[in-house]
Amino acid sequence: MALSQSYEVTVVGGGLGGITAALALRHKGLRVTVLEQAPELGEVGAGIQTAPNASRILIRLGLRRQLEAIRTEPQDQVRRRWQDGSIIGLTPLGRRVQEEFNAPYWHYHRADLHRTILDACTDPLGPGPAVRILTDSRVVDLDRTNPDRPTAVTQDGARHEADVLIGADGIHSQVRDLIGAEDTLVFSGDMAFRTLIPGDLVRADPATRFLFDRFQSTIWYGPGRHLVHYLIRGGESLNIVGCVPWRDEYGEKTAFAGTTEMLVDAYADWDDRAPAMLSKAKGEITCFPLFHRRRDPNWIDGRVALLGDACHAMLPYQAQGASQAMEDGAVLAEELGAVTRGGIDGALQRYVNRRAQHAGMVQQASFRNQTFYRHLDGPAQQDRDARLGELYDGESD
Ligand code: FAD
Repeated sequence: MALSQSYEVTVVGGGLGGITAALALRHKGLRVTVLEQAPELGEVGAGIQTAPNASRILIRLGLRRQLEAIRTEPQDQVRRRWQDGSIIGLTPLGRRVQEEFNAPYWHYHRADLHRTILDACTDPLGPGPAVRILTDSRVVDLDRTNPDRPTAVTQDGARHEADVLIGADGIHSQVRDLIGAEDTLVFSGDMAFRTLIPGDLVRADPATRFLFDRFQSTIWYGPGRHLVHYLIRGGESLNIVGCVPWRDEYGEKTAFAGTTEMLVDAYADWDDRAPAMLSKAKGEITCFPLFHRRRDPNWIDGRVALLGDACHAMLPYQAQGASQAMEDGAVLAEELGAVTRGGIDGALQRYVNRRAQHAGMVQQASFRNQTFYRHLDGPAQQDRDARLGELYDGESD
């Protein structure tokens, strides 16, 4: 029997961070309730990557078979030059990464990944008590009159008391505000376009067919902008993330619907293959301002702890935001699962000690890539490309 079986944990937020934490806590025998504001749990129609650090966690949570059914495995990560698409660097992934890190690098449709983790949370045959999921439950207040039993109050007045409360409620975290944590949110000056293109359209066009030669995760480096794409669902869709400077004419710094023209225009002076690929984006195109957080190790206040974007939101320039949130969940579960109720405070402190510095380093590295990917052509760009090229033996397409 797990030491912590009598614990109750409330997780506020059912995003990828919240549900991974819930599953990891379930594996330790804790009784977990997830409060999610949305009427249904799910994820947006876009891609996501898990590097070995996150894939390993999901596999340890017993999900290898389920993930193998939904993942696409890239063979390399390729860096291309904006002007002519030439390859300036290539990192082998696939088998090489598996051998080196003993865990895979995978791509998925976000909805597939979220559904897989959620199913494991609620599976009646899984280890420990099944996670209780309450939707339409927006947390609007915390009552900490009894500091050992933090209570989340939802918009309908319902009260949810537990031994520990985890704020996994994303970049604009309400829990963070309610515990009075510092406002560390910073606008990056960037906007991301996000869309999916049907793989058939990309494969049918000689200009873009090269993307299917072998499955790759691709980053185009260009002056002031970069562009990321990779295949998901075995090539059914090409996931596109274009990162460009925000323009004041976009108005309020909130998400809005973009157009194919906007996307193509943003890369019109690049290698023809980039706008040719982007012109096929006929589905939903979402544009959103990119925020991140300053490094801040204050993740706990009494029995309330923060996790994921609520405490270390980062630019998506290393594809690590959700992966770091998954690492949080795994470490939190290890610490809470190792103590009885009297040891909770120490366990939360060890969680922060083990995680905050590392997540902060990843935040900073993601921030640095905003410059690294986007040097203007000149000495800094030439130096970068030469260094990347040293790692690459020159095969090109
Ligand atoms: P969220 O996913 O934001 O979840 C928070 C949840 O809390 C939501 O469901 C929300 O509805 C709920 N909520 C909010 N407020 C309340 C409330 N008051 N009460 C109840 N519920 C509430 N990361 C990767 O690891 N790999 C990638 O490839 C990658 N690509 C990215 C590409 C782009 C363009 C962007 C923008 C990000 C990318 N990320 C990637 C980062 C990743 O998407 C985020 O870091 C991750 O989703 C954060 O997870 P989270 O659970 O902390 O927060």
